[in-house]
Amino acid sequence: MAYALITGASSGIGREMAALFAADGHDLIITARRQSKLDEVKRTLEHRYGVHVETVALDLSESDAPQKLHDYTVSQDFEVDHLVNNAGFADWTGFLDADWLRQHEMMQLNMAALAELTYRYGRDMRAHGHGRILNISSVASMMAGPYMAMYFASKAFVRSLSEAVAYELHDTGVSVTCVCPGPTSTGFAKAANMRGMNFFTLTKPATAYQLAVYAYRKMKQERTLAYHGYLTKAGATAERLLPRALTRRVA
Ligand code: NDP
Repeated sequence: MAYALITGASSGIGREMAALFAADGHDLIITARRQSKLDEVKRTLEHRYGVHVETVALDLSESDAPQKLHDYTVSQDFEVDHLVNNAGFADWTGFLDADWLRQHEMMQLNMAALAELTYRYGRDMRAHGHGRILNISSVASMMAGPYMAMYFASKAFVRSLSEAVAYELHDTGVSVTCVCPGPTSTGFAKAANMRGMNFFTLTKPATAYQLAVYAYRKMKQERTLAYHGYLTKAGATAERLLPRALTRRVA
């Protein structure tokens, strides 16, 4: 049976993505750390859309987690024909002031886990001759600014890796789409605002639902790279605006 696997589906953009897949009749494997949140999503989607939802609670920043997840789905005969690498976070701290363990966790989750899942499931999809991979980067992938150096770098990694793999796989039946969201109101954004990084003062954020609809459409169209909003607003470029916004710290 074919499944869509979505990481970070317990909240925000990932949860909305899960609902879009379910509304289209896809069975799902949803992952995140919080089992109780995954159970809520499972209950809602199974009840509303009649699809089957598997939950796998795991911390993808642990180095063996991607392989464990892959081994588990293979052992259960779950064929993954859609992979959404969505889980990610930012630590809103100056590079030299940050806790290194936290920085390392970000590298593992935002980069290493995403790359390994793309590798493992990409190989399976290529063997089957079809599949779609959607990687969530950010407009932050195009620029750099203060107080989240590792995040900027991690999202540039996601964009770069996705484009390169998309070219490699172009005639295999497997597509790789990278979507770069602008500001989107989720828990991620609340964490930013709590740290005084009020970049939402510059533009109206998208809702998680709007962003998910955009990303879902781009993935189905097999677009390699797509940016959501922000860059075109009032002739202003994110390169000019975002660093200025990030320097508005409250304390
Ligand atoms: P949320 O914080 O709402 O969602 C993040 C998801 O990732 C949650 O489901 C969380 O679940 C999961 N997650 C976090 N850490 C781990 C971990 N160590 N292991 C497994 N799962 C984890 O934020 P968003 O929906 O906004 O974020 C989704 C993606 O969108 C991220 O990659 C983010 O970088 C990107 N993005 C967001 C933007 C925004 O403005 N919101 C802008 C640009 C990009 P749990 O806590 O249960 O583990």
